[in-house]
Amino acid sequence: MTRGDELFHRALRLFPGGVNSPVRAFKSVGGTPRIIDRARGCRLTDVDGRNYIDYIGSWGPMIAGHAHPDVIRAILRCVQHGTSFGTPSPPEIELAEEIIARMPGIEKIRFVNSGTEAVMSAIRLARAATGRTHVVKFEGCYHGHADLMLVKAGSGVATLALPDSPGVTRGSAQTTLVAPYNDLAAVERLFERHGSEIAAVIIEPIAGNMGVVPADEDFLHALRSLTAERGALLIFDEVMTGFRVTPGGAQAFYGVSPDLTTLGKIIGGGMPVGAYGGRTDLMDLVAPAGSVYQAGTLSGNPLAMSAGLATLRLLDDAAYVGLKMGSARLQHGLETLLKRKGGPGVVQRAGSMLSLFFIDRPVRNFTDARAADHAKFAAFFHGMLERGVHLPPSGYEAWFVSMAHDDAAIDETLDAAADALARL
Ligand SMILES: *Cc1c(COP(=O)(O)O)cnc(C)c1O
Repeated sequence: MTRGDELFHRALRLFPGGVNSPVRAFKSVGGTPRIIDRARGCRLTDVDGRNYIDYIGSWGPMIAGHAHPDVIRAILRCVQHGTSFGTPSPPEIELAEEIIARMPGIEKIRFVNSGTEAVMSAIRLARAATGRTHVVKFEGCYHGHADLMLVKAGSGVATLALPDSPGVTRGSAQTTLVAPYNDLAAVERLFERHGSEIAAVIIEPIAGNMGVVPADEDFLHALRSLTAERGALLIFDEVMTGFRVTPGGAQAFYGVSPDLTTLGKIIGGGMPVGAYGGRTDLMDLVAPAGSVYQAGTLSGNPLAMSAGLATLRLLDDAAYVGLKMGSARLQHGLETLLKRKGGPGVVQRAGSMLSLFFIDRPVRNFTDARAADHAKFAAFFHGMLERGVHLPPSGYEAWFVSMAHDDAAIDETLDAAADALARL
């Protein structure tokens, strides 16, 4: 038995499914998760000393690569002055200024501790601002695990094929309306039936939690005008896409400005974080400026803020060019291999997030994503793992390329993929 297997056996006695977040458990691909001991650049090392090129990227935050010296230095400098004060402190102010300067839709912001919390708070604010109850979400989009968002959610929930979760009351689910992704007519129908009750439409402007599925540009522009006309707010959940796809997030890429934006992942540089922000008039409804209550003991804590700030400062224009080139090299390499080895497969990419669906047509919504061959993905995943490449352990997840994935690492990945595909 490897040290990893021994540790995971202990974990199974301690945690539900042996993990602290469902998709880590390899449920959808089978087998036992690797227990990672350390990471540097684009590589993970497990407790048995095996190395892997990493495409999980801690599910998004590690855009600069693991243990980047600038990020480590920022954390070390900060930690020497204490870890949390429960008072305002400089790093939160600097990070907020940096985010607001880059992201067009954010004039004012509030930091929280996870993407889940950001979404929950943004929805509370939208309901308060409009005096309405209902929220429209899209099938296959994941917005964290708050009750009202666990309706046909993607990510771990899609992986486990739970259309809903026990423990979520009918009351919480009742105010959530679901439409297929990229389907404007379905949203219009919801507005016809429930228009006066709809507080907000929330969307991943580039979906990353059913695999990578970009929204049509026309669709996002139409959502912007429809919500504005009907007095509902448009919320972009950019927890994954924020600072991942462009310097200004998906909203800058599409030129659509939402009323509220949720962030997480990259802005914490690998530390726990979330944030929501938007128009000043809306954000000033939040306590203590306004009466919409929302608080957090560790919110804006200096360590997470410093790690996030150091990460954002690494993300200059040159960094995005490099990220795009590396990701495109991976995409084109995979596409060539798929063509050569026969067998249907589609690689969908937005900036430095991409995914491979074993399917013969573009994936535009969750129905398409589900129609991909997920058993084949599982076999491919294990083929890659054996060859030293750690993909996310589910066909419903995005692969993340970081600044540390150089051409050599991408080519090593493609060599592994050539072998793994040939053996399917
Ligand atoms: C990861 C994610 C969340 C949830 O963030 P947590 O920090 O895991 O709570 C919400 N929305 C999107 C789009 C995400 O990718």
